[in-house]
Amino acid sequence: MKQNTEAWRALDAAHHLHPFSDTKGLNAQGARVITRAEGIYLWDSEGNQIIDGMAGLWCVNIGYGRKDLAEVAKRQMEELAYYNTFFKTTNPQVAELSKLLAEVAPEGFEHVFYTNSGSESVDTMIRMVRHYWSSVGKPEKKVLIGRWNGYHGSTIGGASMGGMTYMHEQGDLPIPGIVHVEQPWYYKHGKDMTPEEFGLAAARWIEDKILEVGADKVAAFVGEPIQGAGGVIIPPATYWPEVERICRKYDILMVCDEVICGFGRTGQWFGHELYGVKPDLFTTAKGLSSGYLPIGAVFVGERVAQGLIEHGGDFNHGFTYSGHPVCCAVARANVTALRDEGIVARVREETGPYMQAKWRETFGQFDHVDDVRGVGLIQAFTLVKDKQKRELFDNWGTMGLACRDIFFRENLIMRACGDHIVAAPPLVISKREIDEMLGRAARCVEEFERVVV
Ligand code: PLP
Repeated sequence: MKQNTEAWRALDAAHHLHPFSDTKGLNAQGARVITRAEGIYLWDSEGNQIIDGMAGLWCVNIGYGRKDLAEVAKRQMEELAYYNTFFKTTNPQVAELSKLLAEVAPEGFEHVFYTNSGSESVDTMIRMVRHYWSSVGKPEKKVLIGRWNGYHGSTIGGASMGGMTYMHEQGDLPIPGIVHVEQPWYYKHGKDMTPEEFGLAAARWIEDKILEVGADKVAAFVGEPIQGAGGVIIPPATYWPEVERICRKYDILMVCDEVICGFGRTGQWFGHELYGVKPDLFTTAKGLSSGYLPIGAVFVGERVAQGLIEHGGDFNHGFTYSGHPVCCAVARANVTALRDEGIVARVREETGPYMQAKWRETFGQFDHVDDVRGVGLIQAFTLVKDKQKRELFDNWGTMGLACRDIFFRENLIMRACGDHIVAAPPLVISKREIDEMLGRAARCVEEFERVVV
């Protein structure tokens, strides 16, 4: 295997440009070659067993190695490997999946539009929202409001909708018609308020932006229920209900990006259910197939669906693989298993609360760790210079990367989002595996405090 590792690394360095990577730096180091996976564990080409505390990229909700999903894919490939859904055709798998998704979604989401990824779901949502307003006679409602440090993908639309300035800097983003407001990050922005007061104040930044742009020009507000890639920013309980009230007041569509929070990550089927709100649309991908095949879906509430169906005519948008029969078959098997094996319910009732208690107990004790937080199986803490003063380290992100590299070396995948350290393991993780993961993580943070700080 050792020999293979070197050969694969050389091929990779010679021919493969990696996403979100500095290719020169990576090539000098050599990428780790992941060869197999089972449950919550990965193995690399050197035989190391790694705990995947990130479920890949927050997506392998059902865990690795499900032979039943592989069987479903094989059977479907043999029967109907592909056909499109554009020109007066459908297929049994897309029809059955759509019914299942309407069942697991909150009431009032009877329609879905299929994509291949989260970014495409976000792009689809942008086009759909604008087309909706044109169709119901308000074509001037075009502006979408996102948030700084939100993440909505890498396409031109998704990266514009997101509020990652380091992405905007490459390629003159955002595109016109997308504006941003500050994120609801209590630890940084809410110092002289209670969390409840801060939640209301942060929601009102959206109202300020609506008034600045003009309500008659604003099409939608878009936000992740819990910001994932921004560092697991969990808004106070007052935030989303106030956002909903504001959107209703000014007749603006409320869109939740559920690409990470969807399909059980928070212990609810969809993250917005935590906050008791009802978006007009929500975007999904990742957990829809647990990453076994690429598929995303935009869930469309009745108001928008009826507007589009009754008044929209042709929606000139779609992907060759929208409603791909093999992806739909696998997504259906995955969602059925998440439901019928009680995986989402277990996150809500058992493993989620267990993880949250252990997470707080494990990391609350460190001198340079603060804002220890989480819900279900998504959690984070922030590396800080001074806990008493709530002071962050200089050079935001440097400490996070140093800490993450220790985890990586110790065969644990957890991610650094700036100086936020985040984890989102497969939803099938057991209590014993949670203990193992946090035990290893704690030893790494000890080393970080001893060696790096
Ligand atoms: N939206 C959110 C909230 C995400 O977290 C992501 C990816 O992490 C995306 C959209 C983009 O998804 P994809 O990478 O599948 O295009």
